[in-house]
Amino acid sequence: MPCVGIRRTSIDRLEQDVEALLDLIGYRPVKEKILLKPNLVAAAPPENGDDTHPRVTEAVARYFRHRGRKVVLAEGNGIFESDEAFERLLEAAGYLYLRDRLGIPFINLEQAERTDVPWKYGSIALPKMLEEYEYINLPTLKTHLQTGVTLGVKNQKGLLPMKTRKFFHKKGLHACIHALSEAVEPALTLVDGLFCVEGTGPTGPPVGEVKRMDLLVAGTDMMAVDHVCTEIMGVDVEEVEHLEPVKDVQALGEKIADVRSPFKAPAHVIRMDPFTVYSDDKVCTMCSVPFYKALSKIFNTPGLHEQFGKRPELRQVSILMGPSDPPPDLGPCPICLGDCAAATARRKRIPHIAGCHPDYREIVNFFCPGAYPDVAP
Ligand code: SF4
Repeated sequence: MPCVGIRRTSIDRLEQDVEALLDLIGYRPVKEKILLKPNLVAAAPPENGDDTHPRVTEAVARYFRHRGRKVVLAEGNGIFESDEAFERLLEAAGYLYLRDRLGIPFINLEQAERTDVPWKYGSIALPKMLEEYEYINLPTLKTHLQTGVTLGVKNQKGLLPMKTRKFFHKKGLHACIHALSEAVEPALTLVDGLFCVEGTGPTGPPVGEVKRMDLLVAGTDMMAVDHVCTEIMGVDVEEVEHLEPVKDVQALGEKIADVRSPFKAPAHVIRMDPFTVYSDDKVCTMCSVPFYKALSKIFNTPGLHEQFGKRPELRQVSILMGPSDPPPDLGPCPICLGDCAAATARRKRIPHIAGCHPDYREIVNFFCPGAYPDVAP
């Protein structure tokens, strides 16, 4: 019978709570080398809920170090393709301290050596270091626009290179994420439930909302951990396509009923005046992130914001991404983003910003011509 531990915590006693929780579920590390895989998706402060809180990652790293283990952090740079951009992500998310002050090496999984492992669709290239290291999955407790929730099973997508992540969206996102859980499983999944995201995750404001839970949830059966987390979030696990219900899970520590607090569900159409964003599970995060990055640039740069405000035709803008058919009423100013939306753009004669994924600077240039004069349209 799989067991899952639940513990209330707070930011100032994470180390003792991590230790107590891992004792509660009877976890003991086996290997000498430990790979911690947090969930790092946005260059935002820890209180925004986007990323695994660096203090949780630090507490887990210290747990292993106190037991004489060698610890590394590993994550793919995903949308943060350049070294400088990834460095900014680590800095904003509070991770430079772990690397530069505590001396925990950071491995960029996009560049990791890989080995082919059989899975449902043939073979999949996983980081070779998973053979040697004890793999610890450190997701966060969040809702997700495309997958309902993002927990341990979904966090494993970050083990993959960008091209495989895009393949998932084309092949069938939910089935691929589930199949990945059959190909690779961590020795331990520990969920950061401090600053969680509800509503339209997986990122916090301005799109999703932060929800304080002050919880840690852990177990050695990743699917069972995710099942328990869905119950805490008030989400029916049967409705999360990439998960499966796990029978007879033994919850240890806090009772699920005592910590349960229903999360607001994600919306599939995001309205952020003057934008309406249409998205579904065929759209990669790599397509939507440049759009939100462009908006952040425009609205946080006074000159660009003013330029944007002087264009009355941009008072109602519909953003279309991915290959799915657009809704019938697109309003006066629809725009297609990304190569997958090219056919829609051609068929409906809609302006198109190409790229797989699109360059956020081209999106800024579209709304504020000349903002990046060196970037070709
Ligand atoms: S265009 Fe966008 S949605 Fe399509 S594969 Fe590329 S990143 Fe994914």
